[in-house]
Amino acid sequence: RLVLGIETSCDDTGAAVLDETGEILGESLHSQKDVHLRTGGIIPTVAQQLHREHIERVVQEALERSDVDPSRLSAVATTVKPGLALSLGIGLEFSQKFVRQHNKPFIPIHHMEAHALTVRMLQPVAFPFLVLLVSGGHSLLAVARGVDDFLLLGHALDEAPGDALDKVARRLSLIKHPQCSTLSGGQAIELLAEDGDRTRFPFRTPMGQTYDCCFSFAGLRNQVNMTIMKKEAEEGIEQGTLLSCVNDIAASAQHTVASHLAKRTHRAILFCKANGLLPSDSPTVVLSGGVASNQYIRKSLTIITDATGLRLLCPPAKFCTDNGVMIAWNGVERLREGKGILPPDVDVSYEPKARLGVDMTAEVKAAA
Ligand code: ATP
Ligand code: FE
Repeated sequence: RLVLGIETSCDDTGAAVLDETGEILGESLHSQKDVHLRTGGIIPTVAQQLHREHIERVVQEALERSDVDPSRLSAVATTVKPGLALSLGIGLEFSQKFVRQHNKPFIPIHHMEAHALTVRMLQPVAFPFLVLLVSGGHSLLAVARGVDDFLLLGHALDEAPGDALDKVARRLSLIKHPQCSTLSGGQAIELLAEDGDRTRFPFRTPMGQTYDCCFSFAGLRNQVNMTIMKKEAEEGIEQGTLLSCVNDIAASAQHTVASHLAKRTHRAILFCKANGLLPSDSPTVVLSGGVASNQYIRKSLTIITDATGLRLLCPPAKFCTDNGVMIAWNGVERLREGKGILPPDVDVSYEPKARLGVDMTAEVKAAA
């Protein structure tokens, strides 16, 4: 059984063909990162136009590389939620045309469900497990109990960690630093933090008084920006030209992000243990999303998982970020269980906002 996966929820146009075992037969990915780095953020209409220009070629390439004719596909899986409306629309429109033309079943995919399940394509990981997803658009903790069965323990109340790091990087004009010119904000901060003193700027860890599993990064970004402004004023220099302490700011900001994520994960582990939500045999935390490629954050989480007797699994960076492979894998998992598979002629709409699973955030808070 072969599944074609298509992803266009944000700024990556991705497609891949997988077989039932999770072997990647062929894939193609067009990233818009360079364009958005230059404009200082994603402009939805630009993202939409780029998806429109590339989707046909990307899907064609994935099929050619896998040497699979559309007639051999068992189904097509496509991200339909959550994400940028204009971007989701292009992938969905293309897919619905494609499945009708080739008379194939359609499997609508939740982008975060796909992020959470990717690890199972790489190694056997049994349900249930705890998952922490951290990216440019999301921050969430959930218990994965089955392919389409999630308990949402916490989510971002304002902005996501990747978004906050990207904004700090922009405020510091890191794109002008020679080593950072092609890096995303988060990558630039990680690189600069290597030579920084994380204790130099003791930013407050967000939501220190709230014992739930929700996240907040806007206040931290504000604290960092105030520090940058103060330093620029002290040195009497123009905005975005600070050089003297960028490493220390990067290290301190990264440390505070890591600390917030680690504390929330610890809280989630305690909640899961108290409510018997994880197996006693080899309980697992899966870490994924673009921010998960940060080594400092991974290490901080290892401290928590080691202390609580859980194992931490993190897919390689390539599988933490957006691509067609994870969508195809989600399709494989759903096809296996016969969940959410639609005939080609059913009209499906996209949903820019869509929570993952059953919302348990209030229960987590009440149990504090
Ligand atoms: P989503 O999955 O939420 O729809 P996205 O497209 O932003 O959104 P990803 O491609 O998974 O998701 O992640 C990109 C984000 O990850 C960016 O904000 C980027 O700054 C951040 N990021 C990438 N590498 C690192 C790193 N090494 N350290 C910290 N952040 C990083
Ligand atoms: Fe993503």
